[in-house]
Amino acid sequence: MTKKWVYLFREGNASMRDLLGGKGAGVAEMTRTGVPVPPGFTITTEACNAYYENGQQFPEGMWEQVLEGLKDIEAQTGKRFGDPSNPLLVSVRSGAKFSMPGMMDTVLNLGLNQQTREGLAHLTNNPRFAADAYRRFVQLFGKIVLGVDGDRFEHEMDEAKGHGQRQDTDLTTEELLALAEKFKAIIKEDVGVDFPDDPFEQLRAAIAAVFRSWNGRRAVDYRRVNKIPDNLGTAVNVQAMVFGNMGNDSATGVAFTRNPSTGEPEIFGEYLVNAQGEDVVAGIRTPQPISKLAQEMPEVYEQFHQIAKQLERHYKDMQDVEFTIERGKLWMLQTRTGKRTGAAAVKIAVDMVNEGLIDRATAVQRVDPHALDQLLHPMIDPAARKDAHPLTVGLPASPGAASGKAVFDPDEAEELAKTGEKVILVRVETAPEDFHGMVAAQAILTARGGMTSHAAVVARGMGKPCVAGAGDLRISYADQLMTVNGTTIRKGDWITLDGGSGEVFAGKMPTVEPELSGDFATLMSWADEFRKLGVRANADIPRDARIARQFGAEGIGLCRTEHMFFEGDRIDAMREMILADTVEERRAALAKIEPLQQSDFEGLFREMAGLPVTIRTLDPPLHEFLPHDDDEIEALANKLGVDPRKVKARVESLREANPMLGFRGCRLGILYPEITEMQARAIFKAAVKVKAEGIDVHPEVMIPLVGHVSELKLQEEVVRRVAAEVFAEAGVEVPYLVGTMIELPRAALVADEIAQVAEFFSFGTNDLTQTTLGLSRDDSGRFLPIYVEKKLIPDDPFQTIDQRGVGQLVQIGTERGRSTRLDLKVGVCGEHGGDPASVEFFHRVGLNYVSCSPYRVPIARLAAAQAALGEAKRDK
Ligand code: ADP
Ligand code: MG
Ligand code: MG
Repeated sequence: MTKKWVYLFREGNASMRDLLGGKGAGVAEMTRTGVPVPPGFTITTEACNAYYENGQQFPEGMWEQVLEGLKDIEAQTGKRFGDPSNPLLVSVRSGAKFSMPGMMDTVLNLGLNQQTREGLAHLTNNPRFAADAYRRFVQLFGKIVLGVDGDRFEHEMDEAKGHGQRQDTDLTTEELLALAEKFKAIIKEDVGVDFPDDPFEQLRAAIAAVFRSWNGRRAVDYRRVNKIPDNLGTAVNVQAMVFGNMGNDSATGVAFTRNPSTGEPEIFGEYLVNAQGEDVVAGIRTPQPISKLAQEMPEVYEQFHQIAKQLERHYKDMQDVEFTIERGKLWMLQTRTGKRTGAAAVKIAVDMVNEGLIDRATAVQRVDPHALDQLLHPMIDPAARKDAHPLTVGLPASPGAASGKAVFDPDEAEELAKTGEKVILVRVETAPEDFHGMVAAQAILTARGGMTSHAAVVARGMGKPCVAGAGDLRISYADQLMTVNGTTIRKGDWITLDGGSGEVFAGKMPTVEPELSGDFATLMSWADEFRKLGVRANADIPRDARIARQFGAEGIGLCRTEHMFFEGDRIDAMREMILADTVEERRAALAKIEPLQQSDFEGLFREMAGLPVTIRTLDPPLHEFLPHDDDEIEALANKLGVDPRKVKARVESLREANPMLGFRGCRLGILYPEITEMQARAIFKAAVKVKAEGIDVHPEVMIPLVGHVSELKLQEEVVRRVAAEVFAEAGVEVPYLVGTMIELPRAALVADEIAQVAEFFSFGTNDLTQTTLGLSRDDSGRFLPIYVEKKLIPDDPFQTIDQRGVGQLVQIGTERGRSTRLDLKVGVCGEHGGDPASVEFFHRVGLNYVSCSPYRVPIARLAAAQAALGEAKRDK
């Protein structure tokens, strides 16, 4: 028996996405639940994989099953494939498991040739419609299946329309037929084949083309960016055509069951009368908002509204649907979970809980933690915006503000972004071919296209600001510039976009932090109900601490004291300390720093009242504090009243071949205990003082880069001695902890010894990644991206923790540490603390908390809740 390669729509359902792809499973489910869907069948993803395994040949039995499927469509429609007297036309549609907008191409009106076209004209009594369908078919088939450059067809279309004088709907039957003939000639000229007249040959070629498009550049690029495996394959859907281009009682459209930008619970979409297929998204004419349909075809709209509601109730999520109206009859062509902005994701999740559609746990799991990033993103500073006049206003297609250099070419956007430039990709409209440029850009600006245009959909998916359909832009690719209402913006000129309002500004504008809405707070409070991991923030100054607290941080997991040394004149005292020759000189310099540090810590303690504050003692190599060029050295020497040669000699002596592994971390405090002493005194004096103000303080002193317990022991003694002195002097005690960072493999391995002294561990996963992998983050730019691209490693290990290697050390360190100290508190303070995949790992390993940058705190809270919920689900 041969394998089942083909499923009729009525044989499938929503759970079969692996086999039927998202689109196939969606139409199957709609068919099953009685929604009007044109009949059809799905060729499975397994068939696609088998096609490749089989040297790009259809697997055995597949074609026969396709012919069986066609018979079923014929039976249901009463039409026959290739029969001029009543021709069946079909669409051939790709559809992988994960929706890949615009990545794979669809062929419409397949089955047309001169005979069937005439038959269709006769049957519908509408020769113009038949000619239009034929013109479209030749064009799509030529471009997608035969690989002819689509611009050549567009050029002819443009010519025929008198370059914007007329619209596509103005073309006459004769003109359309002439165009189809021209297209065929172009095909012959370009690829040297005759356009196939045999519908079965057309079908065969189209199915193979969909299979091949799985490995087209756009699809491969999209999968790489979105981390979709290459071995899933795409399904192919063959479906009876319905026609939105049969006159003014016909239309085609796309809609979301809720607003995908804001989450407002109203149907949101666009449609075009007398149009077909991709016309709406391609920006051929300006589409009408769906609200207009309610006026123009109230009954159809009402039915559509009911179906939208039914689909939402069924899928319990916002849907993105495609529909066509053929002579007043509604047909649904696609449903899938709609992509949405972070703001919309939050609002929809909260609303759906309130509507009783989903529970809180589902709501928390619904929102992609990465998507919160958009909510937390900066907006254009209102003060700056007050006096600024936008060059123009387009459609607010994807929210957030961004500045960048205008670039008009996707390749160039990619190139410039690689060199670290911020760019904004400006295009007349975007197409799937531009995807790599959109990935590289900060934001996207288009002159044409609606809220559901390619640019808008892709930008929202990526969480990038986008202004679409800014019709005032006059873009010249040839001259690499645009003019807009009298202003000329050339390639490389800065512009600023506000994707929330659609405004486009010249120049670079300052941005400010957003306000966090009620729904956001609600969702975060639900997340907190589920999560087990604590979330702290890395914050060095009171302002960051305040933001962290607003975002829900439960303490500071890392305060890098040295960051305070760079402010104002403080660096001078620090340099004086480094240049000192004797302990006395050093102490004198440190004495100048101490009160400054103390007041910094007071600020932090006040902001974090009642919450723990982990303060790390001095960590970076000393050369980082010294000037390196001659002029600066001279200036410093003058300021301090010493010989420049002395300064130079000291700079020279502190030079390190590999500073990451050099004289840094606790090694500084061990050679110069007076530094640790000063810092401890500043911490405890601040603690005592703030406590006297009636504020609860919980300092945690953290010793960096410990490899041997003996190192920690020495530093701990200094800290405890100073604490005792300060407390005795003040007559007050403050509870505190002394702990260490685990950022060397040795420390993780001997964690049982270290935990005899340390009251807490904090994994410094940035350094632990460097020391475990033996690579320096700052020097890895040349090869690491290539490693990721070639899939030698799954992710950049500085973004997402290397679970097998570095993660194993985290696990070992935690277990061994807790083997000698049962109640050892263990956290993480590297960048990974704000990365959802890493947070999931830290939850699994049983850490007490993660600490990340203030802006990532909500992301970590949500990721931690999802980790806990995911685990609960698995345990069931
Ligand atoms: P994509 O994956 O790019 O959305 P689709 O397969 O959904 O591609 O098809 C592209 C367009 O063609 C859609 O707008 C859809 O509505 C239209 N279309 C596809 N199949 C049919 C059909 N059988 N009848 C009418 N329109 C169709
Ligand atoms: Mg498409
Ligand atoms: Mg579609």
